[in-house]
Amino acid sequence: MGTHSLPDSLLDLLSDAVIVADADLRIQKVNRAFEKATGLTLGLVAGRDLNGLWTEPLAIIDSVMSSGHPQSGEARLEKPGGEIKHFSVNLTPQDNEGTGRPGLLAVLHDLEQSGATQSKVGVDALTGLPNRYLFHDRAEQSLLNAKRAAKSIAMLMIGLDRFSVLNDAFGHGGGDELLKEVAERLKKCVRGSDTAARLSSDMFGLVLPIAAVDDSVIVAEKVLKSMREPFKVDGRDVVLSASIGISIYPTDADTADHLQKNADSAMHHAKSMGRDQYQFYAGEMNEKARKRLDLEHRLRRALAADEFVLFYQPKIRVEADTLTGMEALIRWIEPDRGMVSPAEFIPVAEESGLIGPIGHWVLREACRQNKLWQDMGLKPLRVSVNVSAHQFRDRNLIDKVQEVLVETGLDPKWLELELTESMLVGDIEQVIGKMKTLRDLGIHLSIDDFGTGYSSLSYLARFPITTLKIDRAFVKDVETNPFTAEIARAIIGLSRGLNLEVVAEGAELAEQVDFLRENGCDMVQGFYFSKPLPVPEFEARLIAATEAEKQKALMA
Ligand code: C2E
Ligand code: MG
Ligand code: MG
Repeated sequence: MGTHSLPDSLLDLLSDAVIVADADLRIQKVNRAFEKATGLTLGLVAGRDLNGLWTEPLAIIDSVMSSGHPQSGEARLEKPGGEIKHFSVNLTPQDNEGTGRPGLLAVLHDLEQSGATQSKVGVDALTGLPNRYLFHDRAEQSLLNAKRAAKSIAMLMIGLDRFSVLNDAFGHGGGDELLKEVAERLKKCVRGSDTAARLSSDMFGLVLPIAAVDDSVIVAEKVLKSMREPFKVDGRDVVLSASIGISIYPTDADTADHLQKNADSAMHHAKSMGRDQYQFYAGEMNEKARKRLDLEHRLRRALAADEFVLFYQPKIRVEADTLTGMEALIRWIEPDRGMVSPAEFIPVAEESGLIGPIGHWVLREACRQNKLWQDMGLKPLRVSVNVSAHQFRDRNLIDKVQEVLVETGLDPKWLELELTESMLVGDIEQVIGKMKTLRDLGIHLSIDDFGTGYSSLSYLARFPITTLKIDRAFVKDVETNPFTAEIARAIIGLSRGLNLEVVAEGAELAEQVDFLRENGCDMVQGFYFSKPLPVPEFEARLIAATEAEKQKALMA
């Protein structure tokens, strides 16, 4: 079987233009994409010399023929109407079995269409790696080779975790430094026959011919390991990780586009499984992706249709058993499905950017409601609002918060923002600066889910926070598990040392509340006292608390 007997159907599936030439460089075949891109039909070019197709001689033809190695270059071609088209050209020698003389396979990529005319063909200017167009070409070439030889290839999509956070934190210069180093490390993880490319700002791709699926695991593990080594940016150590999705030809797909799509959804799966890992594409991922997309759709509609409400969970000062604060927790009541848990939709809102408008709504609504209760003459409480990483990164966060305070008339001292440790990373000085500005407005700041992240104690002392919230994990079995009890005690001690108020989350049992009280915890928020309540029920509790305090004042 010679190259010219590649099935037309296969060639015609490719979105890039392909030319097949024999050992004498006579054009044997072109695919439909070629005819479309150039206006030259097979009838017009069949039998013509490949060298004669271009407006200038294409030097790489000779060097590919003499070296026997694939090469890429750039060429211009005149369309029948006289228009000149600009292509990147990848040439691969093709064995003509039986004759022993190789022919050529040329894959053309329209540079105007790709918008890449300005940059060096096929190469990412920052890292020097192939760009996504060249990656696509290389992937298709590898596929053609694999198909002919009945071999396998693996495609890996490598996404850097939380790169946007670091990029914001260090500025673009720092981000670029990081990306260059990532590219260098990637190059060291692959062999000469593999392709490593930069596909978009924080996405890299690999194509590897493999003998067995295990080969792709070895490379994926190598990449993960090399990314875990600290990077130096601006003379500082920065820790990074990557998430990798893998798809395999022929098991998962048989076109480059399809392989890439599947590797991409596997990468998102890797991210959702906690990042810093690889995942293979699995068919049911389509189902997951579809569900996620559906959720995103419904969320968008929910925002427009006012389907969100806030519940409020009481915070109780344990020493005196009094209601002294509340956390606003979002609830989504979908008309035909009922209540959807924030644990389910907040991550999707984060990923899709919808958390921006949703978070803003939460902030405004919580401030509005709190002011309303105060205006009713009820005991004033501080309301805490959860802030997502996306919101915290927003350059306009301060302005937005200020605007909401002015608009609702709430005194800033009655507002607390709950941050998590994972968002306080990157450029620590910048993070601290932002927190200081918020504190200067008079707002309280707390660290939510404390103990589950990895904030360094030395930073903790520098964060201008007012409160630590002990994560439920260190409360849920505190009365029976000495290890948990030790951690809870340590966090309480730490808070005291740093002069912070400490709130324990998720206490469900009297024994837990007793333990917390005895060990000096200021406040408790948990089902033992109350679940998060809808407005009318919370209001009833707040009225009762207000009355009780009036009584107490009268007695004193
Ligand atoms: P979180 O901020 O740590 O909120 C505390 C969660 O613990 C709430 O879950 C609350 O219902 C639950 N909880 C409180 N006491 C107990 C208890 O005694 N036992 C148990 N088992 N659970 C308890 P919820 O309301 O489902 O919220 C889950 C998470 O969703 C929140 O965790 C927060 O991270 C996020 N979230 C909720 N509302 C918002 C919001 O408005 N904006 C953002 N960005 N995130 C939100
Ligand atoms: Mg919270
Ligand atoms: Mg929490």
